[in-house]
Amino acid sequence: IDRINKRINNGSKFFSLEYFPARTVNGAVNLLARFESMGAGKPLFCDITWHPAGDPGNVSKPTSSLCMASTMLNYCGLETMLHITCADQSVEQLKANLQKAKDLGIRNLLALRGDPPDGKGNWTFQTGGLNYSSDLVRLIRQEFEDFFIICVAGYPTGHPESESYEEDLKNLKKKVVAGADFIITQLFFKASTFIKFFNDCRAIGINCPIIPGLLPIQAYQSLRHIVKLSRLEVPQDIIDDINPIKDNDEAIRNYGVDQTVTMARELFDSGLVHGLHFYTLNREVATIEILKRLGMWYVDPWKPLPWKPSANHHRMT
Ligand code: FAD
Repeated sequence: IDRINKRINNGSKFFSLEYFPARTVNGAVNLLARFESMGAGKPLFCDITWHPAGDPGNVSKPTSSLCMASTMLNYCGLETMLHITCADQSVEQLKANLQKAKDLGIRNLLALRGDPPDGKGNWTFQTGGLNYSSDLVRLIRQEFEDFFIICVAGYPTGHPESESYEEDLKNLKKKVVAGADFIITQLFFKASTFIKFFNDCRAIGINCPIIPGLLPIQAYQSLRHIVKLSRLEVPQDIIDDINPIKDNDEAIRNYGVDQTVTMARELFDSGLVHGLHFYTLNREVATIEILKRLGMWYVDPWKPLPWKPSANHHRMT
C-alpha cells in the first residue's frame, strides 16, 4: 500500500478523522466502538491528539495518546497519525516517545509545538530547547530520516501569537522546508478564508498538499469553548444564525451539518482540494451525515473490516 502522502497526492477524494484520547478507561472502550463505525466509511487516515498533561507517551495507560494510536492502528487496522508536541519537553523525552511510536508501527506524525501547560499566556522562548514545530520536524528527520510521514499545522487566519499573517506564512514555510510532507489547517468558517490562504501559500512557495480542517458546529457551548481556546473569531452572520437556536441542540447540529456541507462543496468546486479533515470531537453523527451528503461515505457490506475476519473465523471454528 502507498504511504498516505502518495494517496493524498493522487487526486481522488478522501477524508480523515481526528479524535482526542478518552479521559477514562470506559471512555476509551467506547471510543474503540466509534473507531469501528467510523472506520467502516474508509477514512484515508485517523489521528489522535497529544495532551502533555495526560501522560500521552505512557503506552501501558489505556487513555494515553500512544496507547489509543496503537489500538487504532494495530487492533482496528486504521491508518493512523499520531500528534506530538515539543513544548516543554527535552530532546531525550521526545526521542524516546518517537522511538516508541516507531516501535508500535506508527508511520505518520503531526508535529506541533503545543501550548504553554496552563493553557494561558504566550509561549516563552527556551534557550537550547525545541521552540517551534519546525525544530521538531528537523529532529524527526535527523533521527528517523524518512520513516515517518510528517504533517504540520497551518493557520488560515494566522497563528494568534504571530506578528502578522504574512510572518506566520513564512514560519509555515520553514516547517515545510524542514521536512514536512503536508499541512492540515486550523478550523475556519468560510471557504473563501481557506482559498485565500491556499493561494498565499502557493505564492510564497509552499507547494505541498494543504488539507482543510473542518469543525462541524455541534453545540453552542462547545463552539464557544473551542473558539476561545483557538483564539478565533466567528463571522457575524454565523453568530446571527446560531443565537436564536442556541438552546436547541438538534437545530444547532443540523445547522452545523448544512454549513459544513456548503463549505465543503465550495472547497471542492475551487479545484484546490480533494480531501477534507474533520475535527470529530469524538462524535460521529454529524460527520457521517456530512460525508453521506457529499457522497463520500460508502460502506461496502461485503468487505469486512480488517479485524472482522478473525472474529468470523472464531465463530466458524
Ligand atoms: P509553531 O509552528 O511552532 O508556531 C507557533 C508560533 O511560532 C506561530 O506564531 C509561528 O508563526 C511562530 N513560529 C513558527 N516557527 C517559527 C520559527 N522558526 N521562527 C520564529 N517563529 C516561528 N495542541 C496540542 O497540545 N495537541 C494536539 O494534538 C494539537 N493538535 C493540533 C492539530 C491541528 C491541525 C492544529 C491546527 C493545532 C493543534 N494543536 C494541538 C494546537 C497547537 O499546539 C497550537 O496552535 C500551538 O499554539 C502552535 O502549534 P504549532 O505547531 O502550529 O506551532
